[in-house]
This record gives sequence, structure tokens and C-alpha cells, in this order.
Amino acid sequence: MTMEQFSLDREIQYVKGVGPERAKLFSKLGITNVASLLYYFPREWVDRSNIKPIIKVSPGALETVSGIVISSATRQVRGSLKITSVTIKDKSGFITGTWFNQPFMEKLLKKGVSVIFYGKVESYRGMLQIGNPEYELAEDDDGEAKDTINVNRIVPIYPLTERLSQKQFRKIMKYSVDNYLEHLNEYMPDEVKERYGLIELKTAVYNAHYPSDFKTLEESKRRIIFDEFFFMQLAFAMRRKRVKDEPGILFAKDGKLLDPFILSLPFTLTAAQKRVLGEIKADFTSGKPMNRLVQGDVGSGKTIVALAAAVIAVDNGCQAAIMVPTEILAEQHMKNISGMLNGTGIKAGLLLGGMKRKPREEVLNGIKDGTINIIIGTHALIQDDVIFNKLGLAVIDEQHRFGVMQRAQLMRKGTGLPHSLIMTATPIPRTLSLAVYGDTDISVIDELPPGRKPIKTMVFESWQTIKLYSFIGERLGEKSQIYMVYPLVDESEKLDLKSAIEMEKHIALRFKDFKTAIVHGQMKKEERDTAMAAFKNKEIDILVATTVIEVGIDIPDASVMVIEHAERFGLSQLHQLRGRVGRGSKQSYCVLVGDPQTEGGIKRLGIMVETQDGFKIAEADLEIRGPGEFMGTRQHGLPEFKMANIIRDRQLLELAKEAAFSFISDNCDSNHNKKEQLVHIIKQKYGPSFDLINIG
Ligand code: ADP
Ligand code: MG
Repeated sequence: MTMEQFSLDREIQYVKGVGPERAKLFSKLGITNVASLLYYFPREWVDRSNIKPIIKVSPGALETVSGIVISSATRQVRGSLKITSVTIKDKSGFITGTWFNQPFMEKLLKKGVSVIFYGKVESYRGMLQIGNPEYELAEDDDGEAKDTINVNRIVPIYPLTERLSQKQFRKIMKYSVDNYLEHLNEYMPDEVKERYGLIELKTAVYNAHYPSDFKTLEESKRRIIFDEFFFMQLAFAMRRKRVKDEPGILFAKDGKLLDPFILSLPFTLTAAQKRVLGEIKADFTSGKPMNRLVQGDVGSGKTIVALAAAVIAVDNGCQAAIMVPTEILAEQHMKNISGMLNGTGIKAGLLLGGMKRKPREEVLNGIKDGTINIIIGTHALIQDDVIFNKLGLAVIDEQHRFGVMQRAQLMRKGTGLPHSLIMTATPIPRTLSLAVYGDTDISVIDELPPGRKPIKTMVFESWQTIKLYSFIGERLGEKSQIYMVYPLVDESEKLDLKSAIEMEKHIALRFKDFKTAIVHGQMKKEERDTAMAAFKNKEIDILVATTVIEVGIDIPDASVMVIEHAERFGLSQLHQLRGRVGRGSKQSYCVLVGDPQTEGGIKRLGIMVETQDGFKIAEADLEIRGPGEFMGTRQHGLPEFKMANIIRDRQLLELAKEAAFSFISDNCDSNHNKKEQLVHIIKQKYGPSFDLINIG
């Protein structure tokens, strides 16, 4: 055979034992060529290596035994049922393997053949048996002891689809690791392997499938997981290097407008806000583009920090854009921000998707000619016809609602590479932020403005309507304003919307002396505005809402949050919703109404009662839902791993990050070839999603 045929990109159907039919099953598993086969790892490994003398096996246990077939027979019992019994013998005793309706076993395991059985031992009328054992011949055709793959070793168990058996798959895999693995080239520089104690790539891949022992298996997993993290972090490191190589816009001065602006606020900044603003200023004067994430719990006052940064940008002759996920939030920001900018001479403008032609053109012109200094808007900001005069700072609020690409699109509207500030109230555990924001500096606002009282959180079961209504009645009696939230996971979920609308009618009837209103995503903007404004002005007592109010809404006097079907929300989302209250001086409450029928649902809500710390809640959420779900479908920043798990393997993640960043910043020539090889791999893996195509 030629070298060509044994290449790693050989199509899977041409691999021995596969063929076109099986290849279709393989492709369902994402296996299209030899490389993807070799990287299709077992979900677990079971120890079948310990062959016991037959006399030592215990009934009830999973055991491996080996012997020579002394009898092999099939008998017919009851109608069509056929039982094949194959009895083997070793020096110590006898044991019988039995199969139902597989008469061919009799031919396969003929008298005199050496075979290994694995399975659960039973004792039947004083005879030892294994029903339907895993089996494998112990010798090959020439009578040599065989390198078994199903028994007598640590055996891989693969995640497979129907119609593919473990045995078939193992055979194909064994053939492939034996014949193709030598073509897998080591790409990892020796220094990195030595420094982090990593074994050879070939050894690792081989032993991930067919480990010689458990210690080697662990070393193999460690190498493979390290590599997965290493590649991802290399992508971050490369992107970061590009950013840092580009000259940033220097915002040298921050004095003239900033100080009076801060003095004019009705409150003083918290120490945490001041610290984060200081970090931002340092970035501005570094001469490199800022790339910073501000994490701060709900209500910690991120808006003002972003606005202060925007004021500095304007003072330095640039524009700042603030992109937010919903129209409601954009409008609220516009209102608050224009208020705070009063008297500074800075002009703010608002750009939304559904604007009429004329006002829209006016705003677009203002953005283009530079008369609008701070532009607030939704996704509308990244449309093609939005042309900035000189965008120097791009702020993305509630960034977890945006994808990586949208952020990149806003950045591209800048003059050169603008400074970027992204803000999130969904606190991301450190492990995850390393993974998702590997190339970003992180600031944390870890302090709430003074005077906030802890929110009292309670869980009601969904049948406890009387209890809920009497609670609502009491709160209304204290002149509290109440949010009642219904889940509307998707804007198009008509059924949920209907239940929210009906609920509002129901509540209005139940509490006749009070005023209710509803807001949801499918209302006209004006209607929504009217309802929100009325709530803010205390003309409305109960605001029934869908999750459109989830992010950012700031109505300090509202003090009660009731969330129906709370079990349908993620914990972080509940935390966001709860964060809408507890902003004023009044005691605030949060009632989570959950369906006790849902598995784990109510229990999960208990975490909300226990803590109000967004980071703890995020950790719990992450643990319960796993990284994929946690980040949500909107978040495409996270690659899929074959073996790695960012929670379980967080220590390796940190090591891989360190290794990748120092590898990229190290310019010594000796690793030049390895670097090229690695860069090539990275571009293939992450090129499109990381916007890395043009990196050299
Ligand atoms: P978030 O971090 O959730 O975006 P906001 O920026 O909306 O929080 O701020 C929440 C509320 O706290 C707003 O009403 C804001 O005016 C107020 N606030 C912000 N900073 C302070 C402060 N230092 N002292 C008092 N109130 C503050
Ligand atoms: Mg906010």
C-alpha cells in the first residue's frame, strides 16, 4: 500500500471494515475521515483486564475468565427459543456462557478454541454461568496469543448510535490506531511538553482508546485535554496580539468634562466604580486599544461607569456608541443618559430598528457629521448605513445577549480599532471567563451602591394561589409596586403570551382597587412606553410583563417581583429579574412560583433563597446546566470540546492558557516551524468564528 492511502484525511468509508453503508452511520457521529475517527474518544473505560481463575469468581459480580471450550451445543426450548451453551474450562474449574437465539455461537466457539468471557456471573443449580457474555478469541488463527480488544484489558466504551456495535467499532478503531496513528504528527514544542509534563501525542491518542493501564489513561487524557484548551487559548493569544500590535486611539486627557460630570451626579461613585473607571483610564492612555469586560452584579451601577468612559472619549474628539439588546433598555438609557449629560454640552442620540424614515435619517446624519457624540442603540447600530464620524469607544451592554460577531461588527465601524468596553451582569465564574474572554481584560464592580436592603426571597408552589394573592394584597396595602413576570422564552411563543395577557385580566379583576398594565415584546413601542412610564410614575400598581423587562430596567421604587413558572428560567436569569427590585429604600420581595411536578425545579429555586450573590448563583447555574446551556444559544464564543470540560478541568485550562500566551509572545526563532504548524491548525479550527483569517 502507498503512503497516500494511509493519510489521516482518508475518507472513512475506505477504512478497513467500514464501507459506504457503515460510513453513513459514522457520519452521524461526526466521523468523516480517519482524523475524526482517531479523535472520537470513548465515553468510559471498563476494566476487564483482571482474568480470574474460574474457582475464584463471585456470583453477582462482573468478571473476566479465560479457558478452552470443552462443549458447545444449542437446544430448542419452548417454541422458537434456542439456547446456545458454551462451557469453558481452566485449571481451576468450569463456567458456561449462554446465548438466546444466536445458534451461530456454537460454530464460532467450537470445542478446543481458547476464549475469554466477560460478564455478570450467576450460579444456576450449582453451575456457574454468564448470560450473553462479551467474548473474544484468545488466540489468532496461528495459535498465537492475541492482542484482544473486547476483553482481557481495559476496554473502551464508545458513545454510539443504533446499528453500530461496540465490537464492530472497537475493531475498526483498533485497526486505525495500529495503521494510521503513525501519520499523526507531533505539533507541540518540546519545551511545552517538558514544562507541563505532557506525554507524546501518538502515545496519548493510542492510550485514550486502548490504555495499557489506568495511569497511562490518565496521562493520555491530560495530554488531549491540554491540547484542546491550548488551541483555544492560542486563538485568543493570537487575536490579542493583533489587537495589541495595533495602535490604539490615545485618549490623553480626561479632565475637562469628566470631573464636572461626576460632580453633577446625585450620588458619589462607589469605591468599586472608581477603581474600574481608573482601570479604563489607564487603558485609554496606554496607546493600545482597550479590550475590557466589566462584570458587575445587577444594580452595581455599570451604566455610569460606561457613561464616564464615553465622556472621556468625547472630550478627546471621538464618538462613543452604546449597544444594548432591547429597545426598552435603549430608551431607558437614552432618557437617563441625556438627563445626566444636561449642561455638559455633549449630545446623545438614539437609534432603533423600527424608526420612521425621517427621524432615522436625522439621527444617521448626526452620527455621520459628528454632531451626535454618544449614540445609544440596539442591533440597529451595526447596520450598513450607519456611518460614524469618528467612533473611538464601543460599549456593549448586557453583552451575554450578543454574539461574538455582532461585537466585531460594531468594532469595525470604528476609526482604526476603537476601544471596546463590554459589560455584563451575568457574572461569569472565573473558569468560564478565562475560556470565553481569554483575550480580554476583566474589571469587576464588586460592591453595590450604599443603602440597598437584601431582598426577601420566597418559593411558592404553583397551587398556592390563595397564599400568593393574599401576599400580593398585603404588599399593595403597603403601597408597593409589583412586577409579575411570565416566561416567554421565545418572542414567538404565542401560547405563553396568551397566558400573560389573560393573567393580567385576571389580576385586574382580583385587585379591582388597583391599577394594572401589561408589557410584552409584541406591543407597539408607544404602548409599551406608556405602560412603563405610568409604572415609573406610580400610576400603575402591578405591571404584568414577559421577560422583556429582564435586562437593565431600572425603576427604583418597584419593590416586589413575582415570577411565575420560575422553574422554566435559568438561575442567572432569575437573578437578573430579581435584580429589578431592591433598588429603593423599601423592603423588597421576590416570590418564585414554581411547579412542584418538575424534576429538580423547585429544589433549584432554593439556591435563590439561599444567596443573593450573583457569582455564587452563576456557579450553581453552571454546575446544574453545564457550560453549553449556561452560555445560552446566543453565545457562540465557546468551542466544542471532545474530551475537555471547562469546569472539571479548570486547572489544566489555566496551565494551557499560560502556555499558549507565552508561546505566542515568545519570538525566538527556534520554535518558528512549530509556530507555523500550530497557526495552520488554529486557523482551520477557529478561523471563521474567531475572525482570525488574516492573522499571519
Ligand atoms: P447595572 O449595573 O445593573 O447596569 P445601573 O447602572 O442601572 O446598574 O444602576 C442601578 C441604579 O443604581 C441606578 O438607579 C443608578 O442611578 C444607581 N446608582 C449607580 N451608581 C450609584 C452610586 N454610586 N450610588 C447610588 N446609586 C447609584
Ligand atoms: Mg445595566
